[in-house]
Formats: sequence, C-alpha cells, structure tokens
Amino acid sequence: MRRSDVLIVGGGHAGAQTAIALSNAKFSGSVTILTDEPELPYERPPLSKDYLAGTKPFDRLLLRAPAFWQERGITIAGGQRVTQVDPLNKRVSTADRTQFEYGTLVWATGGAPRRLTCSGTELMGVHYVRNRADVDRMIAELPEVRHVVVIGGGYIGLEAASVLIKLGKHVTLLEMLPRILARVAGEDISRFFEAEHRAHGVVVRTNTAVSCIEGENGRVTGVRLADGEHVPAQMVIVGIGIAPAVEPLRNAGAVGSNGVDVDSHCRTSLRDVYAVGDCAAHENAFAGGARVRLESVQNANEQGATAAKAICGQPSPYHALPWFWSDQYDLKLQTIGLSIGHDSTVLRGDPATRSFSVAYLSGDRLLALDSINNARDYVQGRKLIVEKIPVDRAKLSDPAIALKDLAPAKPSSPAPG
Ligand SMILES: Cc1cc2nc3c(=O)[nH]c(=O)nc-3n(C[C@H](O)[C@H](O)[C@H](O)COP(=O)(O)OP(=O)(O)OC[C@H]3O[C@@H](n4cnc5c(N)ncnc54)[C@H](O)[C@@H]3O)c2cc1C
Repeated sequence: MRRSDVLIVGGGHAGAQTAIALSNAKFSGSVTILTDEPELPYERPPLSKDYLAGTKPFDRLLLRAPAFWQERGITIAGGQRVTQVDPLNKRVSTADRTQFEYGTLVWATGGAPRRLTCSGTELMGVHYVRNRADVDRMIAELPEVRHVVVIGGGYIGLEAASVLIKLGKHVTLLEMLPRILARVAGEDISRFFEAEHRAHGVVVRTNTAVSCIEGENGRVTGVRLADGEHVPAQMVIVGIGIAPAVEPLRNAGAVGSNGVDVDSHCRTSLRDVYAVGDCAAHENAFAGGARVRLESVQNANEQGATAAKAICGQPSPYHALPWFWSDQYDLKLQTIGLSIGHDSTVLRGDPATRSFSVAYLSGDRLLALDSINNARDYVQGRKLIVEKIPVDRAKLSDPAIALKDLAPAKPSSPAPG
C-alpha cells in the first residue's frame, strides 16, 4: 500500500493549490494528488468561455507546466476515484480497490453537476459542464447542431449561451424563476444581462419550467415545457448548479449537511482530515459568520493555502474577501464581497453605458459590489467592504464620485514643529 504524508483527493483548483502551497512552504513530507480526471490540474472557468469558443487550447489551461509537478516532487495519480475513506486506519480506497495510506488527508473534490430529474436526460446531445471531457463532447457535436437549449440562467448557462450564439447557433435559454441570476445577483444585474442576451439573439424565457427532454433514436430532438410546448434542439446544456462531492467523506463520519463542515483552518470533524474548495462549508465573516460553501477560484485557492499553512504547523485562519468574475460577450462582471443578508441595493451608473455597478448594503455598510466593465469600482470597493466603512447612499449612487473618496481620509500627521 502506498503512503503519503499528505494525500490530496481532487486535482482541481483547491487540491492543486494545497500541493503548491505545501511545496512553497518547503513541506518536507511526501505529497500525492489523487484525481479521477486524466488531466494534470487545469483551470475550470475557461471551459464555459474561451475553451468552448475554441479560442484557448487546453495546454493553456494547465495550472502549471507538466514539469513543475515533477520538479516539486508532487505525485499526481490520475484516473483514481476515491470511493471510501477509513479515518481510523487513515487510508482511502479507490474504485479499483487500490488503497492509499495518509498522514493527513485533504478532501478537494469540488462538486458534480446537479442532474435534471425528468425523463430524457440520458439522450445523446444532453450535456453538463464541469470538466474538460464534458466540453470536448460538446465541441465534437457542435458542427451538427443548429438549435441549442440551455436549461438554467446561472453564470455557466449564460456564458455557454454567449459563446454558442457567437458561433452562429440558435440559442434558447430556459429559466424557471422570474429572472436569470436570481440566486446570485440583484435585479438590476439580472435585467441587464437578460437584455444583453436578447440583443445578441438569445431567446431568454423566464418563468419557464421543463417537463422532459425528448429524443429519437437515442438523440435529443428538443425540450418539452411544462405548458406542453416543444422547443427543438440538437443540443441541450444543463446548468442548474452543483452538488458537493462528499459522499465518501460523509460516509466516514465527517460532519456536514451542505458539503463538509470545516473550521477556520479547513479542518473537518475527522482527525487529520481537511476539506477545501467548493465542497467545504465554512463560517465566512463576509456572510455575517454564516456557514457557506463558495464556488469560486478565489475560495478554492485561498482555502488550499489555509490548509497548507495548518499542515505545516503555521496556522492562519481563513479570512479572505470573496471575489468572483464572469465573462459574457464583451462584458466582464466582477463581484467582490457577499451580498448575503443585504437589505437594499444602490445602482451606480447607467446600465445603458454598459459600465456600471450595483452595491449591496446592510444599513449603511457595503457588503458586496457587482461591477460590469468597471474595474475601478471593483478595486476601490474592497476597502469599504473590508473596513466596514459607513457609506452615504447619495454619494454611492453618483458614479462621478470615486469609491475611494467615500472612505474617510486618513488623519494627516501633525505639522512638524
Ligand atoms: C464551467 C465553469 C466555469 C466557471 N467559471 C468560474 C469563474 O468565471 N470564476 C470563478 O471564480 N469560478 C468559476 N467556476 C467555479 C470554479 O471553477 C470552482 O469554484 C473551482 O474549480 C473549485 O475548485 P475545487 O478544487 O474545489 O473543485 P474542482 O475544480 O471541481 O476540482 C475537484 C476535482 O476533484 C475530482 N474529484 C471529485 N470527486 C473525486 C473522487 N471521489 N476521487 C478523486 N477525484 C475526485 C474532480 O473530478 C475534480 O478534478 C467555474 C466552474 C465551471 C465548472
């Protein structure tokens, strides 16, 4: 049986970053990453953006050049799906019954796309977007596809829609709720993106429920809506969120209900077992201390670094300001902070200019900011959020006043003499 001082399960952003941070900290023990994907660790966000568009080849997605892992002495074992964790004997087993022993285990398995529960999801032409293989299958089918239905108006569905419409496909986007991005953004942002997608030719249908997916000879032919209408499609993309991939760890006794619970050092309830990234539910100061799971590269990277510090005996609690981005058409959305618990929003600038921000407030405190083509607000908003500086709503709504000017000036040092 192979043994590693640190065994990392999952070679995505969080797992890779844990290994890199251990190496940077000159961790002297052995480090192994087990991942069920065949690839070396790569960036996931481009999958629904430039990689799907065909403008970024896979080798440019790699988080590190292949030689890096060897040089750093980090072993990466691909095609290994961990199915069982034995926390008493400190070992894991994979689907092919190989066992690996660990000194410390880092669970970094992200999540699996939520599946539609209606009939027809097994048909050829129905896709989920989580890994390279998913997107390669879509790319291979695209030449035969004229009509695409995207189910789910979250970021991944919207990004895919923006790429596919540019590739000349006829795209219909179905959203069950009254507005797209309803779970993650305020109404101004939803309305703005809805208008943008419509202007680019995407048929956006909100308040629209799916009854089933239909097909012929094993291939998808369209989507049947709850009201009986048939929307034709040769490709269906389902983007309705993820479920954290934590079953083996939960079966082993790790506490958690939405993913696996971790403390501020990413430690789970099991001895010498950490969890990082999309699967780790942590108490986040920027969510008022609520236990949340964040699905972002920022969180994956910084939790990986946090776990590495604790493993190296230099613990430093996770206290990172969340940030996130999305690219659609020529629009860059940048989010800083978490809007959880906001009681009002303030629009900064005119959406018609395609450069504006939406501020999320609790009382007079800025909790989060969604900035569209407006990097200046995104950068300057950080201080207001982190330092919990009370803001004046009238000033906040005036884009002519820079956010940095909303923070009180530092007291000037007394004049000499
Ligand atoms: C299409 C797409 C676009 C995105 N765009 C953005 C964006 O623009 N901005 C942003 O901030 N975030 C974005 N995200 C989210 C971001 O990619 C994730 O938050 C990040 O990848 C989380 O890292 P992770 O390591 O926790 O999980 P992952 O990157 O998913 O890595 C988990 C790895 O573990 C493997 N694994 C799972 N179970 C097992 C097991 N039992 N045994 C072995 N291996 C296992 C998985 O196959 C995977 O390789 C996007 C995600 C997707 C899918």
